[in-house]
Amino acid sequence: PADAVPQAPEDALFGLMRAYRADESPDKVDLGIGAYRDDNAKPWVLPVVKKADEILRNDPELNHEYLPIAGLASFTSRAAELLLSPSSPALAEKRVASVQTISGTGACHLGGLFLSKFYKVAGASRTVYLSNPTWANHNQIFTNVGLPIAQYPYFDKKTKGLDIEGMKRALADAPDHSIILLHACAHNPTGVDPTLAQWREIAEVMAAKKHFPFFDCAYQGFASGDLDRDAGAIRLFLELGFELVIAQSFAKNFGLYGERAGCFHFVASPSSNAAEITTRVASQLAILQRSEISNPPIYGAKIASTVLNDKALFAEWKENLLTMSGRIIAMRKALRAKLEELGTPGTWNHITDQIGMFSFTGLTEAQVLKLRSEFHIYMTKNGRISMAGLNTKNVDYFARAVDKVVRE
Ligand code: PMP
Repeated sequence: PADAVPQAPEDALFGLMRAYRADESPDKVDLGIGAYRDDNAKPWVLPVVKKADEILRNDPELNHEYLPIAGLASFTSRAAELLLSPSSPALAEKRVASVQTISGTGACHLGGLFLSKFYKVAGASRTVYLSNPTWANHNQIFTNVGLPIAQYPYFDKKTKGLDIEGMKRALADAPDHSIILLHACAHNPTGVDPTLAQWREIAEVMAAKKHFPFFDCAYQGFASGDLDRDAGAIRLFLELGFELVIAQSFAKNFGLYGERAGCFHFVASPSSNAAEITTRVASQLAILQRSEISNPPIYGAKIASTVLNDKALFAEWKENLLTMSGRIIAMRKALRAKLEELGTPGTWNHITDQIGMFSFTGLTEAQVLKLRSEFHIYMTKNGRISMAGLNTKNVDYFARAVDKVVRE
């Protein structure tokens, strides 16, 4: 029967990585994958993660036992506080169910699976609305669990900023009770985030339509460098009383990519039986988790927990976050300045207006392919660059290459 299995296409992003590795040019530049690199284009183990790692390795009690089904409680509880704030009424009122997941991808999946089973409002839509564009994996994650997907406008090609009117119109036109996937901060792939005032407008439309917010938070601390500020949208929606879910990744902000440390959180809206609803939701999440992975991975969670539960290490983590976000902001400034100095046709303010790991350059697919074949520069076909791939040694080379392909 396996004869009937058709060949699937290679994942576009991982295919790009493979091509980059195979390229022998000394000039090659990797602007594809969303992973932080230091000024020498090397992976960066956060100093605070090194410290936590050492603490764990020197612990004579360290073992490799199973975690509970819902994960390491000292990790998931601090992870929830990071998003909601330690003084959050939702936490005090026991309206939050948190489950450790296989990083942010696993959290999106567990959330999708949970909604596919339990999001049943009589006569209502179960469609998940995704921003156009969004992280490509969102499409298959929600499709795989049987939820229909649709898109709402997000990126305005003209301004290279947010299409707030288009977005609000689409949310207003969507059937009541739709599920709306929102990037909490540092939108992937565009680097364009709503302002807090715009988030409020979005929330108003969503409340009027009784839509269900599904926040994907993969870059807390990466957008502004400030953990609280980057959680602003989520906290606003909670203040407004929404019931919502959050997929949380610690891949980028801890540099724990391969350790797969993440959480899924459900927050009930305030009501007299909110705590009881939350207990029931937690019980169902545990069943789903058990059938899929039984127990989440221990080591990354222990590293994050060690940092999140120690005042001094937590302060050091914030410094490490500023190192990463600061270097990215410096590269945004350098790239824009160089393009403007060269007089490259077009406007380049969006490079510094956009935030987080990525920038949507506005380069066309033809220009992207030319950058790859003629200059050994690797980026996704939609013109997205990972800012973390730029450094003081290659930013001029990249700007000159962009200048050439834009003029051709
Ligand atoms: N959501 C978004 C928007 C992302 O960009 C990513 C990382 N590329 C993730 C979720 C999840 O990543 P991970 O599974 O590595 O935590």
